[in-house]
Amino acid sequence: MLADQDRIFTNLYGLESWQLPAARRRGVFDRTAEIIQKGPSWIIEEIKKSGLRGRGGAGFPTGMKWSFMPKDASVPHYLLINADESEPGTCKDRDILRYDPFRLLEGALIAASAICAHTVYIYIRGEFYAEAQILQQAIDEAYSYGLFGKNAANSGWDCDIFIHRGAGAYVCGEETALMESIEGKKGQPRNKPPFPANAGLYSCPTTVNNVETISSVPEILRRGADWYAGMGRPKNSGTKIFCISGHVNAPCNVEEAMSIPLKELIEKHAGGVRGGWDNLLAVIPGGSSTPLIPREVCDTVLMDFDSLRDANSALGTGGVIVMDKSTDIIYAIARISAFYKHESCGQCTPCREGIAWLWRMMMRMVKGDATVDEIDQMLDLTKQIEGRTICAFADGAVWPIQGLIRHFKPLMIERIEQYRKRAKGA
Ligand code: SF4
Repeated sequence: MLADQDRIFTNLYGLESWQLPAARRRGVFDRTAEIIQKGPSWIIEEIKKSGLRGRGGAGFPTGMKWSFMPKDASVPHYLLINADESEPGTCKDRDILRYDPFRLLEGALIAASAICAHTVYIYIRGEFYAEAQILQQAIDEAYSYGLFGKNAANSGWDCDIFIHRGAGAYVCGEETALMESIEGKKGQPRNKPPFPANAGLYSCPTTVNNVETISSVPEILRRGADWYAGMGRPKNSGTKIFCISGHVNAPCNVEEAMSIPLKELIEKHAGGVRGGWDNLLAVIPGGSSTPLIPREVCDTVLMDFDSLRDANSALGTGGVIVMDKSTDIIYAIARISAFYKHESCGQCTPCREGIAWLWRMMMRMVKGDATVDEIDQMLDLTKQIEGRTICAFADGAVWPIQGLIRHFKPLMIERIEQYRKRAKGA
């Protein structure tokens, strides 16, 4: 279990004020200039050594991502912070934004200096209205104390920061759709390459990082890469905010060490599964796009990138959705399909048509109004969609169905047989 002194997000529950004096008492904006003056190479190396991987879902190593940015600063460089948190089951960035915004702002300034960016945009989900207001107040306060603008925080680095509010499209959390949206266009993902480090926002070198990732950076640099790398397992280091929801006794957000066993996470922090651990049916471990894992896998799986990948799932955003035995698991996954059908941006035929098709099949599976062969057809269809689209949205839309078929095919067959029996009896 994570020791109190190792917590990064010390105001995760909003027990103290979010404003600057209180944030400073929590250690935020402490020795920031000293860190920045060590230079981009030192910062990037420390972040690489810490093992920090993106906390927004993909888990890409942050230091490596920063190192892709060109060193030539003759064209503008941009840092974009993805605060478009929309993955069902995930609500961690929201608590950072409203309870600890200066931690994010400090990370933004340090990260911007590391990638030679003088401009930072925070792309915030449109529905986070109150959070955007708090964030804007925090930015105004930061400017008034000289923490942004010319010679930000006396570091010698000039840096401006702006908020851009989204309009409620899930796909704008995809990094290139996010750029299109900031540029005032429809939020639709771009083909890659070119990758953002070469041609991103306004065709300039750009890095996109998640709120939790950027907010973790200052503490890592203050306390040292070894401290961060010492938590969790190799390649899965540091701390993570987990969002535990669903059929638990005490749903919560909690910061824990990476690689904590899922069972321990649920029992220690969320009051256990409703009706006890034996009443557990399945868990979606990393937000709605990650494949579910059944109870027997939940017994032993660790909450990190590698352990969940080995269990045919993913850490994703750390949004843990717990489902007990009262859940109609087929309907739960059908509901997720409805979400992705609605959110597809429509550019790619496999995504636009395929996900709607899957959703219609899933709704028949809920009733059992299907043939057993259709289960395999549906699985085949998911494989035809996966990896054949412009962005990873479609992959995330089909994985929940693959997880359902992998672990609950007998239940799906049983439902089809029951439906047939009822139809014959009618
Ligand atoms: Fe749009 Fe879906 Fe294609 Fe992504 S995969 S670009 S969301 S249609």
